[in-house]
Amino acid sequence: MTLACSHTMLTTLGVPLTEQGAGSISSSHRFLAFSSAAWRPTSSTQAANPCRLPASSQGAGGTWRLLEKVVLCSQLQPLKEESKMNAEPERKFGVVVVGIGRAGSLRMRDLRNQHASSALLNLIGFVSRRKLKCLNEVQQISLEDALSSQEVEVAYICSESTSHEDYISGCTSLHSYQQCTRVPISSHLRQHQHFLFDYLLMAAILAVQLDGLLLGFTFSTIDSLQFLNAGKHVLVEYPMTLSWAAAQDLWELAEQKGKVLHEEHVELLMEEFVFLKKEVVGKELLKGSLLFTAGPLEEERFGFPAFSGISRLTWLVSLFGELSLVSATLEERKEDQYMKMTVCLETENKRPLTWIEEKGPGLKRNRHLSFHFKSGSLENMPNVGVNKNIFLKDQNMFVQKLLGKFPETELAAEKKRILHCLWLAEEIQKYCC
Ligand code: NAD
Repeated sequence: MTLACSHTMLTTLGVPLTEQGAGSISSSHRFLAFSSAAWRPTSSTQAANPCRLPASSQGAGGTWRLLEKVVLCSQLQPLKEESKMNAEPERKFGVVVVGIGRAGSLRMRDLRNQHASSALLNLIGFVSRRKLKCLNEVQQISLEDALSSQEVEVAYICSESTSHEDYISGCTSLHSYQQCTRVPISSHLRQHQHFLFDYLLMAAILAVQLDGLLLGFTFSTIDSLQFLNAGKHVLVEYPMTLSWAAAQDLWELAEQKGKVLHEEHVELLMEEFVFLKKEVVGKELLKGSLLFTAGPLEEERFGFPAFSGISRLTWLVSLFGELSLVSATLEERKEDQYMKMTVCLETENKRPLTWIEEKGPGLKRNRHLSFHFKSGSLENMPNVGVNKNIFLKDQNMFVQKLLGKFPETELAAEKKRILHCLWLAEEIQKYCC
């Protein structure tokens, strides 16, 4: 995905991309879906009791009929006040949010608020391992109900990153996660993946029932698999999987099922990235480095550092094109909760790029960058403004995909970039272990 794509789409959705107003729309040009009048619950039952799962009345196989007035992509016209009431979409995509942590809570907030893309989505419930029953008037539902309900057409997978390609590489719940992640996936096992998927699905359902027994295991991949298999569209927080092969399989499945598989990359919607993208245009890189520091992060929940830090890798790939791995080292002091991963990468023009992830108690969340170009240097990031609504901007892109309005070429470029980054992350992990 290129920045231009984000700009184009977000701009057509009427979302200001920068504080300075580039790509924003004026208040007099707000279009339909921003209007508070354009939103209301899909049924009177819901209006009376927003915590109740609405009875299925339309069926998932129903034809999409979204009012042309609500089409978000092109020919945006300022709306007359009286036309707003008539402009509600006839059909909304029913959504469940899986995993109510930081990301999941933000997703719920955006879905409940009146935004252009949220007007086309109907938050039906959330799935959580905790027994919460109801959260901000949204009902908790079981994974089984979310999978089988015809109302649910979209799943937002916001659980922890650790996923189950590890099972594919021979791990079971009886193996220690640590042992498993240190073993690279052997290629012959790849042949058995399709067979093993059935096993994975059963394991996931069992795991949900057994809950606490599978400590340290979470289900991003399995959730995505299950929801795709059940014929739902999937939005998954990055990284979608912890292996390249598992991501390939998810995409194959999505294509087979004719469903959208969207991996969130909010880092590409940040002001800092918008600035960097503009900064590197037309410049010839000589060498560069990106150091990320932060407090400790549990590998058991978020995966090997090359995966949990994939947003930094995505920045480098989005700025300088596909990269190759030269070397990688991992320094770990588990007793101190300290780790430092140093990765030497190379651009297609053989220019060196160093990526460092350093995490430990007392380390501030920060990015330090240094890019040397033929024409000059960029050392560290100037203050480029506050990031606003980046998860909402990501949702806007997802809705564009649901509506079939995301350009094919950009979809292909995005998929290529995501798979390349996951492949690199896996290579780095193999190199370090
Ligand atoms: P978090 O620890 O705050 O939340 C994870 C939540 O998912 C927890 O509440 C956990 O109980 C729940 N969960 C785990 N497995 C589950 C399952 N099988 N079913 C139901 N619930 C389950 O983590 P987070 O920061 O919200 O991150 C979640 C995902 O979002 C990660 O993949 C992360 O990489 C990605 N992400 C987060 C951010 C962010 O700003 N927080 C940004 C980009 C991407």
